[in-house]
Amino acid sequence: MTAALARAAGDLARDMAGLDLRGRIRLVEDRIPGRLVFTTSLGIEDQALTHALALNKGRTEIVTLDTGRLFPETYDVWAETEAAYGIRIRAYAPERMAEEAFVAAEGINGFRHSVAARQACCGFRKVEPLGRALDGAAAWFTGLRAGQSANRADTPLAEADEGRGLIKVNPLADWSRADVDRFVRENFIPYNALHDRGFPSIGCAPCTRAVKIGEDERAGRWWWEQESKKECGLHLHAPEGDVAPGQEAAAFEEPANAATSREHRRELV
Ligand code: SF4
Repeated sequence: MTAALARAAGDLARDMAGLDLRGRIRLVEDRIPGRLVFTTSLGIEDQALTHALALNKGRTEIVTLDTGRLFPETYDVWAETEAAYGIRIRAYAPERMAEEAFVAAEGINGFRHSVAARQACCGFRKVEPLGRALDGAAAWFTGLRAGQSANRADTPLAEADEGRGLIKVNPLADWSRADVDRFVRENFIPYNALHDRGFPSIGCAPCTRAVKIGEDERAGRWWWEQESKKECGLHLHAPEGDVAPGQEAAAFEEPANAATSREHRRELV
């Protein structure tokens, strides 16, 4: 099972390499039977993927993890995306009892007390709901890119997720941030307004800040922790090599004109 999964993932990665984004998605949908799930964080990479999935009108489910601590701008782009493409993004929320127990024990912002407390918060707000979102899935689409951080430098187009028994598909793995920005701009894709305010990577509001010019894209996530600890448990990769400061720095390109984008999208759907 494990060897077969790894072989299937390797074959998929090889065959995806020469295709454009929509072609990569189509290949996965054609080749992998069973439930396919895309978990979007509503960040700019994921918006590019949502756009391609929506236009393909394929069979991949689009879901999100509503941690309860997201920025208002994230809820805004969520609603805007559903309206623009005529889709519903299914939300998975934390279990109420786990949330109440954590807040009672640690306080409302108790995730700042320690790495363990932060990981516990990410555990019940993200990891456990992710498990439910992926229940029975054969493949899991993500918007991960190799250039996002040192922790993600070895991200392939497709890989075996042995723990979950599925193939994890990262169709943007070999895209740069500039590629993503260009794709979003050229296709008039709605995106989170925070990206224009110095937030290249957007997670929960209390755990995300804007980055400075030259900082790593994910420097604004859990900025009070060491770099090697900065993953929420959804995408665990062993750190491998270093990304030099500024190597994949945030690209603050001209924002797409929002009004023009909305007009254009109306013609697409
Ligand atoms: S990012 Fe912060 S608020 Fe969100 S789940 Fe993790 S620790 Fe909790």
